[in-house]
Amino acid sequence: LLAVWIANAVSRPLRQLTRSAEQIAHIAPDSPGLVNRGGEIAQLTQAFHAMSRQVSSQIAALEAERSKLSAVLAEISDGLLILDAAGQVQTINRAAQDLFNVTENEAAGRSLIEVLRLHQVVDLAEAARQSGQTQTTILELPGRQLTLQVIAIPRHLDDSEPVEPGASPGSVPGVLLLFQNLTRLRRLETVRRDFISNISHELRTPLASLKALTETLQEGALEDPPAARRFLSQIETEVDALSQMVTELLELARIESGRVPLQLEPVDPAALLEGTVDRLRLQAERAGLQVSITAGDLPAVLADPVRLEQVLVNLLHNAIKFTPAGGEIRLHAGRFSENPEVFVLFSVQDTGIGISSADLTRIFERFYKADRARSSRGTGLGLAIARHLVEGHGGKLWAESTEGRGSTFYFTVPIAT
Ligand code: ADP
Repeated sequence: LLAVWIANAVSRPLRQLTRSAEQIAHIAPDSPGLVNRGGEIAQLTQAFHAMSRQVSSQIAALEAERSKLSAVLAEISDGLLILDAAGQVQTINRAAQDLFNVTENEAAGRSLIEVLRLHQVVDLAEAARQSGQTQTTILELPGRQLTLQVIAIPRHLDDSEPVEPGASPGSVPGVLLLFQNLTRLRRLETVRRDFISNISHELRTPLASLKALTETLQEGALEDPPAARRFLSQIETEVDALSQMVTELLELARIESGRVPLQLEPVDPAALLEGTVDRLRLQAERAGLQVSITAGDLPAVLADPVRLEQVLVNLLHNAIKFTPAGGEIRLHAGRFSENPEVFVLFSVQDTGIGISSADLTRIFERFYKADRARSSRGTGLGLAIARHLVEGHGGKLWAESTEGRGSTFYFTVPIAT
């Protein structure tokens, strides 16, 4: 009987221990059934308990780490793609899915060429795999106006360490591909380059004619008073153009940095259109153009009347400048709602030379002038200022145009409630 009792006393906790171990294998760490008896078995039980807690806290930490990692992968704005040793897609994050228009399911387990259809990327991944070194290239996506920097980093799949150059044969590494979208950077770079070349051009032209005029005066024209007066008035025109440009540049800088406070008040849209046309009527008549206004019964807009008139004068001035004699310019104001906000939509439509679709995307940039407008007077700053002013009012400014047919500029302003 004693022997049976001892055997039982020893084997019961052991059985419980075994059961607990099985439970831990299924990640159920706490096993309350373990009985605490004195002696070595009790010690073993406690050690087991401690171990099971440690294992479970490590599992929890790993899971937290894993979900952090997948959150980072999902949120990261660069595209990321991991290839396994066989060259098949193992992981593809959301940014890469959007970039290449595939879903995770479509990509997983497929080869790189099937998923991306870009042999340059396949070659790059292969070069990284073969050399064991990180490879980088710049890629223009055909037909999509996208510039990508692609980085291929070779990986050991097992220990997820970067591969050392000359890694042992047979350890074929996986590859991690990173896609950084450089389109915006490239565009900013172009804008900056154009800005500098444009401002230099705009400054050089009047400065060169000032130089020529003063030289002519010095070389004898001073002795001929009528000619001297003509030259002086040309000098004045050039200086005016220069100071106009500097004023506009300063104004643009002030508006861009939000240092022009708008004096908002309810303004009647029709009165605004009439005020604008009054200011430029003479110019339009001289250019042989007909100007008309249509405005329905509209609510007042919440605007700075001086600034808004500046926008309209700029658009009408352009319409006059770029419409040959005999043309027509229509100014219109109407209701426009973009739920839940209600705006008044202003438009200035001309029957002028129009704007090519390539220029249309750029005319709101500082100094940008379409080639045909290069020789025209004007700084190329007007539309950039107008857009900033409209956006300052909480509205939008855009344009539609057909070359040779004419252009329409639209902008919205919130109504005063
Ligand atoms: P500016 O008129 O001083 O050159 P803007 O910023 O006002 O500068 O206009 C930028 C460019 O947009 C113009 O040089 C011209 O090429 C184009 N543009 C603007 N308005 C019109 C229009 N109504 N018709 C044709 N082209 C236009």
